[in-house]
Amino acid sequence: MSLTAEMPARDADAPATPALATRECGSCTLCCKTMSVWEIDKPNGVWCRHVKSNRMCAIYETRPQSCRSFDCLWLRGVGPEGMRPDKSRVIMVEAEEKEGGPKGFAVVLDPTRPLAWQEPTVRAFLETVRDRYGVIGMALGTRKRVFHAGQPLQTP
Ligand code: SF4
Ligand code: SF4
Repeated sequence: MSLTAEMPARDADAPATPALATRECGSCTLCCKTMSVWEIDKPNGVWCRHVKSNRMCAIYETRPQSCRSFDCLWLRGVGPEGMRPDKSRVIMVEAEEKEGGPKGFAVVLDPTRPLAWQEPTVRAFLETVRDRYGVIGMALGTRKRVFHAGQPLQTP
């Protein structure tokens, strides 16, 4: 497996997760379930009450700024095509490290499919990120864990 098309090797001057190829969300709406939206008191891990049966946003024109500004890393070109969140059940995000440090890489898991990340292609990609970046975060609901290079990944 190669990261070359998905994620260049990190160097001191490069942003941690640069935007690359543009993709389309298509029928994926997993962030409307997995992520929290503070403006509408939506907790993470549950479907937003505004998701319509056809997986569209019922308040699209007036949706919160958090929704407007959120692009998962897959959408920004990171990872294999097959890691689209509604297929892989993982959402790759930038994670702000504490105390003004560099941005990190984290994955948010679908609570109803908490083991989906163990699919070999997904696992291999996450392990490569972990080792190339030196650290990766994993979140499942309110549970979070950080894994360093070489450390076996586990569901939080
Ligand atoms: S999880 Fe990513 S690909 Fe899926 S709808 Fe949200 S931004 Fe789009
Ligand atoms: S408000 Fe719309 S875009 Fe935002 S989480 Fe709910 S359904 Fe998704």
